[in-house]
Amino acid sequence: EAKRLGRNNSQYFSENSNGVVTDGLEMVSSLRRAVENQEMLLHYQPKYDLRTGRMVGAEALIRWRHPKRGLVSPIEFIPMAEEAGLIGGIGEWVLQTACRQSRDWQNAGYPPISVAINVSPMQLERDDLVHQVATVLEQTGLAPELLEIEITESGMMRKVEHSMAVLQKLKNIGVRISIDDFGTGYSSLSHLKRLPLDTLKVDKSFVRNISSDHENHSIVKAIVLLAGSLKLKVVAEGVETEEEYKVLQNIGCDEMQGYFKGRPVPANCFAERHLDTGHLSWPAQKIAQLCA
Ligand code: C2E
Ligand code: MG
Ligand code: MG
Ligand code: MG
Repeated sequence: EAKRLGRNNSQYFSENSNGVVTDGLEMVSSLRRAVENQEMLLHYQPKYDLRTGRMVGAEALIRWRHPKRGLVSPIEFIPMAEEAGLIGGIGEWVLQTACRQSRDWQNAGYPPISVAINVSPMQLERDDLVHQVATVLEQTGLAPELLEIEITESGMMRKVEHSMAVLQKLKNIGVRISIDDFGTGYSSLSHLKRLPLDTLKVDKSFVRNISSDHENHSIVKAIVLLAGSLKLKVVAEGVETEEEYKVLQNIGCDEMQGYFKGRPVPANCFAERHLDTGHLSWPAQKIAQLCA
């Protein structure tokens, strides 16, 4: 185990100076204790229906509040967690926290809000994911259809037959399944047809400048048509401008997510900004205070 970790760490840090190698090892050992030290937190980003303009759900995105480095991005530590064999524990914490949060919002009197979590391919490949999901849903009392599981295209295709079986079991429980970063990976259409999917999330690289970039426009339009004929919902991620929002509306995309409607924010801030519309009339300064 130690040997494996050593090798994997050096993959990340060998290009740097010796000091940084030690630093990298330190990061992994602090990552090992991050969940129990309560250093992990989830930010929530709203998803909007492009037809009704209504907020329809949230994606939970993990952050690590490192005692010395401050907020660390998942882009930095998720690969590290995967390499070090820590993704199982972190993933379980994400699942529990997001489900409990959705349930807490409901208990607080807000309408039911669907919550999406990102699941790493390594979690999918292990055998306990289905059991974990079933257990957490039972413990929290969250309705299964309010939980959505996002897996990247390449993650699903890594071991297609196995993924298919696990996803089918999750589907049988009643949770929703989404392909994340759609278009960036390699997926054959025959696999796409056979996977028990609900949603395609179009990668933000295709959404960028969709009003002026004709190629992106054509790609997203094609994905919307494909999704329509496969009876899948399409969500555009990374929508930053009103122009992009309007083009996606015209193309017939179902939902959107992006800075234009809201950045990922802590749970209390999410509730203030996106759940309780009564509070939207509060002065910006007050909202800024609450969300600081
Ligand atoms: P993702 O699942 O594709 O999430 C979307 C990313 O795009 C998020 O980055 C989000 O903050 C960012 N984003 C949202 N709207 C916009 C926008 O309008 N413009 C731009 N430029 N970016 C936008 P974030 O939070 O840094 O997460 C990065 C990736 O880390 C995620 O990509 C996901 O693959 C992974 N990740 C995040 N949380 C988890 C987790 O709990 N478990 C696992 N396994 N992976 C996670
Ligand atoms: Mg995602
Ligand atoms: Mg994505
Ligand atoms: Mg992405």
